[in-house]
Amino acid sequence: MTMAFGNRIGAEWRAGVGTRPNINPSDTTDVVGVFAQGTAADVADAVAAARAAFPGWSHSGPMDRHGILMRAAAEVTARAEELATLLAREEGKTLTEARGEVGRAAHILAFFAAEAVRLTGETGPSIRPGVTVEVTREPVGVIGIITPWNFPIAIPAWKIAPALAYGNCVVFKPADLVPACAWALVDILVRAGLPEGVLNLVMGPGRSVGQAIVTARGIDAVTFTGSVATGRGIAAACVAGQPMRKVQLEMGGKNPLLVLDDADLDVAVRAALDGAFFQTGQRCTASSRLIVTEGIHDRFVATLTEAMEGLTVGHALDPSTRVGPVADAAQLAIDLAYIDKGRTEGARLVAGGELLNRPTPGHYLSPALFTEATNAMAIAREEIFGPVACVIRVRDYDEGLATANDTDFGLSAGICTTSLKHATHFRRNAEAGMVMVNLPTAGVDPHVPFGGRKGSSHGPREQGSHAREFYTTVKTGYVG
Ligand code: NDP
Repeated sequence: MTMAFGNRIGAEWRAGVGTRPNINPSDTTDVVGVFAQGTAADVADAVAAARAAFPGWSHSGPMDRHGILMRAAAEVTARAEELATLLAREEGKTLTEARGEVGRAAHILAFFAAEAVRLTGETGPSIRPGVTVEVTREPVGVIGIITPWNFPIAIPAWKIAPALAYGNCVVFKPADLVPACAWALVDILVRAGLPEGVLNLVMGPGRSVGQAIVTARGIDAVTFTGSVATGRGIAAACVAGQPMRKVQLEMGGKNPLLVLDDADLDVAVRAALDGAFFQTGQRCTASSRLIVTEGIHDRFVATLTEAMEGLTVGHALDPSTRVGPVADAAQLAIDLAYIDKGRTEGARLVAGGELLNRPTPGHYLSPALFTEATNAMAIAREEIFGPVACVIRVRDYDEGLATANDTDFGLSAGICTTSLKHATHFRRNAEAGMVMVNLPTAGVDPHVPFGGRKGSSHGPREQGSHAREFYTTVKTGYVG
């Protein structure tokens, strides 16, 4: 019998009411591990453990928090190859992509280790003579953390590390599809020296475990990354709760990459290839809308489709693979349904979009490119979250910018051009949280803010020093 990886509640690793196998999408006969399924009662116990730990942890020395996060960063780095292999097996991104993500998790832990000792306040004179005003930041309390499946170690790291660095306790639920890296990260942090109850892990489905976290008494704030529909429900529940909870949502994208006539063709094709299809297109920052001006359109499409032929789709652990499988059967069905929809809407499928057979049974799909798309089509308006992109032809820069901004989302926006005038205008006028010039829309740094506008984000930014806006609360003290 296989041992199940348990939930972490207080000082113990605890079995769940059931278990769930974690299946490798590159080879569905490969079971990565068997993981506990928690319940609302486990969440209640985890919240109680976190509340009990909070007085001690919130007053712990910054050097203690620094030391724990640094030890965790060192272990993630030392075990990078093992963790990357685990990540590639459970989620399906290639080993190279998984190595990048594990490295990023280590960078995030190290960055927030330093933030723990960098937190300062402000002191100044009051407008009343003889009175001093002091503005300080305090931890928020117990943070509920809910993460999606597409970055199984980086997203948990970029939420858990700042929560701990600023003195909060945590109840964490990873996506049920990919609990292995989440479990490993919690195990590493616990062994790095966290006192009992500071970090709790409850695995299980969103509709039960996730919902229990969002509604539990004793949770002070919820940070969530996932779909818009789930995020909307979480925000409503946080506001309806007693007391109201602070909430941070990172959601989807329908990110435009605008390619102008004066673009360097190779730069534009590389940006589109990476932004649309790497990590199997399963990135909230993926450029699924390629908006291309008339003068370069045909050359761009011809060069891009040729480059797509070189994208080997295969097992995530095969070194020759450039695009891994889709994460699971449900996401594959969504991708295929959108490919059908694109055809019936009148767009032209010029490359890919086919199910592929490989030596191992997996969810293999060739990257799909549509041309003759309009910005009104569902494939241009709705997030697909797979290796599917569409090309929208526009007359000029002005129409391109208007098309780029005509979306319910606003996470990342890119432009490929050699014109300083257009690059500058786009940076200033793109309605997105992040703007890329001559770069893919995906690919961001951990030491600067991450987040978007409109339907993509709600609440303060994540990552970098800006993370403190969510994970701390400001206190203004007057001293007479
Ligand atoms: P979901 O919204 O379905 O799930 C995200 C997380 O929320 C999962 O852990 C899920 O649990 C949980 N959840 C589901 N229902 C509830 C609920 N009622 N209450 C509380 N928690 C719940 O998204 P996916 O995991 O399918 O991720 C894909 C989506 O995430 C895409 O739309 C993508 O754009 C977006 N995303 C956004 C990012 C960003 O930073 N902007 C980054 C990555 C992804 P479980 O799945 O275990 O049931």
